[in-house]
Amino acid sequence: MARRMGSIRLRRASPVTVAVGALLCIFIVLFLIYPSSSPGGGSSASQRRMAGAAIHPLSPVTDPYRRIPGLDESRAPPINRYNMNNVTGTADPEGNRENILILTPMARFYPEYWDNLVKLTYPHELITLGFILPKTKEGNEATAALQKRVFKLQRYGAEQDRFRSIVILRQDDEPAIDSQDESERHKLENQKARRAVMAKARNALLFTTLGPHTSWVLWLDADIIETPPTLIQDMARHDRAVLAANCFQRFYNTETGRMDERPYDFNNWQDSEMALELAKGMGRDDILLEGYREMPTYRALMAYMTQEDKGEKYEVPLDGVGGTTLLVKADVHRDGAMFPAFAFYNLIETEGFAKMAKRLGWQPYGLPNYKVYHYNE
Ligand code: GDP
Ligand code: MN
Repeated sequence: MARRMGSIRLRRASPVTVAVGALLCIFIVLFLIYPSSSPGGGSSASQRRMAGAAIHPLSPVTDPYRRIPGLDESRAPPINRYNMNNVTGTADPEGNRENILILTPMARFYPEYWDNLVKLTYPHELITLGFILPKTKEGNEATAALQKRVFKLQRYGAEQDRFRSIVILRQDDEPAIDSQDESERHKLENQKARRAVMAKARNALLFTTLGPHTSWVLWLDADIIETPPTLIQDMARHDRAVLAANCFQRFYNTETGRMDERPYDFNNWQDSEMALELAKGMGRDDILLEGYREMPTYRALMAYMTQEDKGEKYEVPLDGVGGTTLLVKADVHRDGAMFPAFAFYNLIETEGFAKMAKRLGWQPYGLPNYKVYHYNE
């Protein structure tokens, strides 16, 4: 269509116009063949706009990928150099423009989780979100609900609400148990297989999303529906390699007739002589679990260490951590600390991670008075 119109025009044009047109065509062809003499490509203005933007689909996910139509085909794949010494993890991440990766394994989607996430005041252009969802009926429903919110926010949301980038993974493992109901999840005989599946899901999510620009990783479970909006700044200020918030649950107390709260996450603990003795008598593949009457460990649980008079900043060292709200310096993961899906010192998943971090020289800590809240089923 366009071509025909062009040829009609040319037939009627004067020789001068034809000459100018031909010259223009040559310029356009030359421009397409030699997009730019600079290795980055494009003019200096567009280069400035592209700064920090990935130019190759395999570039790190902390950078958004932008394709330039017509130019990419002729460009050689880039070679990226990163000076890891410049990737800091400091007490003032906002001031130092540090990138944070928020990672969430998600079996169910809760709108309250999403609303809380969007309300976090840490600059969203420094936040990358990563999700992993199981390939089950429930997982499919959660994926659909999540994608709806993601699309709405990233496409139509206010500029300051949009996140730097978002990655959604689907799990390739079979789920360990069919039901996600709390009673089924927490049965002792289901725990080892379930925690192993969770560990693999966390590792898959971590290893596919951690980029060379990542300073921090915040593990945030999909059923954490309430945190302070300054969560990231508050926790980072402690400048700890591994730091857990205290996970509680709100409930209606029938005895007092009022809303109340109770401890929820028992995976944040300090070791006890009893637990260490128990572990000594166990087989290599056995795991010690917390919060089961059948297996009294006498560990000191952070869930019970709240001391309001000591303030929000009160810290305690930990030997085991949970993953509900856990801030980790990216260097800890880069050093190789991950979530063992097998018995590691008779510990598994997040508790095994705490042990591994400690063995690498990174002492985990917890904040007994800094509370976040778990959904109440
Ligand atoms: P609990 O609160 O300790 O009982 O543990 P959850 O069942 O809440 O699991 C912890 C986190 O992992 C939550 O964010 C869940 O939505 C998510 N989750 C649970 N099971 C799976 C699974 O099979 N695959 C994935 N990808 N996430 C899961
Ligand atoms: Mn949970």
